[in-house]
Amino acid sequence: MLAPASKLPQVGTTIFTTMSVLAQQHQAVNLGQGFPDFGMDPLLTQYVFEAMQSGMNQYIHMNGYPLLREKLADKYNRLYHTNIDPNTEITITPGATYALYTAISTVVQPGDEVIVLEPAYDSYIPNIEINGGKVVTVPLAMPDFRVDWDAVEQAITSKTKAIVINSPHNPTGALLSEEDMQQLEKIVEGTGIYIISDEVYEHLIFDGKTHESVLRYPALRARSFACYSFGKTYHCTGWKLGYCIAPPALMHEFRKIHQFNAFTSNTPMQVGLARYLDNEKAYREVGQELQAMRDYFQAGMADTRFQPVPSYGSYFQVYSYASISDEPEQAFAERLTREHGVTGIPVAAFYREPVNRQLIRFCFVKQRSTIDQALERLRHV
Ligand code: PMP
Ligand code: GLN
Repeated sequence: MLAPASKLPQVGTTIFTTMSVLAQQHQAVNLGQGFPDFGMDPLLTQYVFEAMQSGMNQYIHMNGYPLLREKLADKYNRLYHTNIDPNTEITITPGATYALYTAISTVVQPGDEVIVLEPAYDSYIPNIEINGGKVVTVPLAMPDFRVDWDAVEQAITSKTKAIVINSPHNPTGALLSEEDMQQLEKIVEGTGIYIISDEVYEHLIFDGKTHESVLRYPALRARSFACYSFGKTYHCTGWKLGYCIAPPALMHEFRKIHQFNAFTSNTPMQVGLARYLDNEKAYREVGQELQAMRDYFQAGMADTRFQPVPSYGSYFQVYSYASISDEPEQAFAERLTREHGVTGIPVAAFYREPVNRQLIRFCFVKQRSTIDQALERLRHV
């Protein structure tokens, strides 16, 4: 039997799949993998249906439906007072995961170092390693998962090719502030370091805070690949549609890789989204909608022995279970699923080396009835 030598020998199945399968096996309430369990806006599905009916079912332009790119450029130019060119600076991709992978593949050559802040979304490290890059991790500072910019600066060497940032942050819901962005700007000034900026939760922001996109900061924008997901903003994670925004010279190389991978992304959804993007309310109000869900979940969790770590954005809220158990995080998450019927994600899964801080991530973007059922069970833990 043939079996290839592994290019990712350390890698198993992602924690999200593992925990979702376990949740199903035990009929647990799944607050693990990040996805809403409620319907999306029927207007958007209607637009996609109408696009299909009108014959928009063949390959669209390799870089994405031109009207969708124009609408996105308009949106970001208005939001961040910048000058994105839809023809040379935006590519629509089959999801943000793909956009991140392509951006990393565009810049990382064998032997290059890439700085990753941990905890980190689980695709970054394998994406770097499969390109022959070396991962240099810098821990986010406890207890609030702030970036220690001195530590980042110290981690930079002549081989540093890129820094990966993610705000709002998965799994912690921490945000980068204006001051963070200024520090980053200072650190990379005069270097050839690229920024891979994962901004998939850009609109899922709470408590009147703002999203600090790299697109707002000209000196950062000039060296950044900013990656986004329609799935998060419009409650359609299963559509797997996203995009990358980067300056022309960066995007030119990005597209060389994209054209021989997916080549393009699915047509009717792009056509539907282009029409839907005029509906600004949808992305302007989603943060408030999710804040109400976070608040409801938090209020219910106050009656449990779990202690919250504040979340200011994303789909997630991290809790400490230190007053319940000192089990390692994976073991606790599995036992919670098996014995109590609620699934979360161990935060340790977002670190390369084993850690145990007794932290578990819950996704609160669920119907009230789902949350009520989870809360009822968590009260007994
Ligand atoms: N980055 C982060 C931080 C995420 O949480 C996700 C969620 N899946 C992604 C990227 C990927 O988005 P997509 O589903 O569009 O590939
Ligand atoms: N981003 C989602 C999460 O963090 C999961 C996406 C996936 O399963 N790859 O839960």
